[in-house]
Amino acid sequence: MSSTVSMFERNRSFAKSFSDADLPLVPRMRTVVLSCVDARVDPAHVLGLALGDAVVMRNNGGRVTKEVIDELATLAFMVGMMDGDRPGPFELVIMQHTQCGAERFADPAFQHAVEQQLGIDVSVSAITDHEQSIRDDIERLRGAPGVPGHVVVSGLIYDVKTGRIVEVVPPSALG
Ligand SMILES: [Zn+2]
Repeated sequence: MSSTVSMFERNRSFAKSFSDADLPLVPRMRTVVLSCVDARVDPAHVLGLALGDAVVMRNNGGRVTKEVIDELATLAFMVGMMDGDRPGPFELVIMQHTQCGAERFADPAFQHAVEQQLGIDVSVSAITDHEQSIRDDIERLRGAPGVPGHVVVSGLIYDVKTGRIVEVVPPSALG
């Protein structure tokens, strides 16, 4: 049986009390959360985000890749156009987590196998030290064209064993 059977059921119950038809396009918290695709770390649950609170982007590891930079630059550009002369706040929260599958990407044998069989380079998402990965990601953003300096960035690690987040890099503007 397909997962959609259960999903239709869940959606029917969601839609019954739906009252968010008029949410604005720009999220209430003016924040983007970048996190891992891991099913255990869904920011809506972990950070208590409601519909319309934040934009959530997810990839393997919650890493700042070229694709993430392009998305962020485009979002910031779009929000900037909507804000006009007085740009409002724009925040990025990077949330990585313990026991991440991207730790496997650090294994040279695994990297080699993925490269050989899929032609994909996973080394950019590899995590060996969580705090260092977050710092590297923020550095990558700092040097990225198109991501404006007024974007406030912070880095967190979510512990899948305790459900708690720990701050690694406090919020500060990129530029
Ligand atoms: Zn992960």
